[in-house]
Order: sequence, then C-alpha cells, then structure tokens
Amino acid sequence: MSDEIVHPTIQDGWYREISDMWPGQAMTLKVEKVLHHEKSLYQDVLIFKSTDYGNVLVLDNVVQATERDEFSYQEMITHLAMNSHPNPKKVLVIGGGDGGVLREVVKHDCVEEAILCDIDEAVIRLSKQYLPGMAVGFEHPKSKTHVGDGFKFLDDYKNTFDVIITDSSDPEGPAESLFQKPYFQLLHDALRDGGVITTQAESPWLHLPLIARLKKDCGEVFPVAEYAYTTIPTYPSGQIGFMVCCKDATRDVKVPLRSWTKEEEDEKLRYYNSEIHKASFVLPNFAKKALQ
Ligand code: SAM
Repeated sequence: MSDEIVHPTIQDGWYREISDMWPGQAMTLKVEKVLHHEKSLYQDVLIFKSTDYGNVLVLDNVVQATERDEFSYQEMITHLAMNSHPNPKKVLVIGGGDGGVLREVVKHDCVEEAILCDIDEAVIRLSKQYLPGMAVGFEHPKSKTHVGDGFKFLDDYKNTFDVIITDSSDPEGPAESLFQKPYFQLLHDALRDGGVITTQAESPWLHLPLIARLKKDCGEVFPVAEYAYTTIPTYPSGQIGFMVCCKDATRDVKVPLRSWTKEEEDEKLRYYNSEIHKASFVLPNFAKKALQ
C-alpha cells in the first residue's frame, strides 16, 4: 500500500483549481509529490511539490502561494501601501499566514514593529515547515505573530498603526468578514492619521461586481480608495488586485511617496519598482468603467 497522500483536487498527477468562484475554468499544476494534508480548525490545508512552480500552498482547494511566483503578490500588496506612507513605523498584517508579506514589510528600515494576525495556526506552522522562503518573515526581530480572527483583533486597536495589509484568502470561508464594510471601518479606526491600507481585492476578470462594491464601500470609509493589480501566473485569470486606501485626503497613492534607488530595487525586489507602482493603477476600459 503506497503511503502517497491523495486529495480530491489531484487527479492523474495534476492539481486542478476548480471553484464556483471562477465557473467553467480551472488552473492546473503538475504534481511531483503531495507533502502534507490536514483539516485545520478553519480550512482544508494542502501542500504539494509541483514539477515547475516549487512548493504550493492550497487552502480550501484554492492556491494561496507558490514558491515560483509568490513574490509578485507579496511585494505589490506590501510596497503599494508602504511606499504610499511617509514613515511607516508600526505595521499590521491581517492573514498572511505564509509569512511572505511580513518578509516584505521588514525590508523597510523605518519599520519598528510588524505584527501579523492570522486565524489559522496550521498555516503558520506548515509554512515554516514547507515554505521557508516566505516563512523567513516570521524570524525577523521586528516581527510579532498573533493567532486569531483579524476582524476581532482589529476591534481592540484604535489609532495605532501606520499601515495595515489584509492578505486574506477569498471571501468564501473564514475571510468572508474581511470583505465587508464594517471591516473597512475597523481598519480606518485602527490607523493613525495619514495611515494606509491595502487589501487582497480579487481580479476584474472574475469578480468585477465585488470589486466595484469594495471600491464603493472603501470610498465611503476612506477619502482615498483606489484599485491596483499585479500579474501572477497561478492565480485564476493570471492577475489579482488590491484596494489601496488612505486616511489623508491629500495623499496620491498612485505615485510612490518613498522609493528605493534603482540599485536597491534590483537588490531587494523581484517584481515591485516605482514605475510599476504607478502602472498598476492603470486599468483596462472594462474595469475602469465598472469602478468609476
Ligand atoms: N496570497 C493569498 C491570496 O491572495 O489568496 C493569501 C495568502 S494567506 C495564506 C491567506 C491567509 O488568510 C490564510 O493564512 C488564512 O488563514 C488567513 N485568514 C482567512 N480568514 C482570516 C481571518 N478572518 N482573520 C485572519 N486571518 C484569516
């Protein structure tokens, strides 16, 4: 009897991302070996080694990160916020249990404290074991980790953070509350004056009505609320976006307030740079019209 781990998403040696969130399509990855599978308190956690995208983290049958392309998402959701703030010292990450966003936050020397709050200890534990290139974020002396619901965690903090990054899974499952207007109000109230947030805000190819609702809700809470996106091969439709909001009505988040030198960008980053910061807010007409 082989000790091979089986999983309903893996058939004939291929992982297939079938979901009612993107009907009629499914991204597939060739599997070399299934490394781990468990049902945590909150979600089904699967980790496999793919033939061409490194180790892959899957939650409730949906890809969260692959070693080969995670840097696109982690860098953009982090630095769109961090470089839209003049001097971010205290930063909060909601979700982000793979550690990749924390890894990016501490690249900014001005950061004094980076706190992460993820609901699921299993994701943190397994990322440390199977995704060391992302989980390195947990080891930094400025990083602190809390296990709990981000919605509840935020309620205890007012006027505390300079930047809050919501690196959540999709709205089906434990992250559902993180896509609702009351959550954006909690984010707003937990920020200090001039504070900036980014949230995972899906793809215009698949979730345009949801993104339009997110932009409307954020626009009713924050004086500045913009949508930007990045390209990433293993997310459905090959791209994913972010809400980028600020408490300061005069802040133009579409242009970096701070930036590294070209040499520093080349040394520290594989995706983000000050040009792509600006370009990421430029939308195709179908999305522009829906979000106006
Ligand atoms: N990059 C991925 C994406 O774009 O879908 C997200 C990666 S990260 C693994 C998503 C994290 O959100 C998971 O670790 C999950 O446990 C966490 N999460 C989901 N709901 C949450 C909640 N209510 N509070 C805190 N963390 C939550």
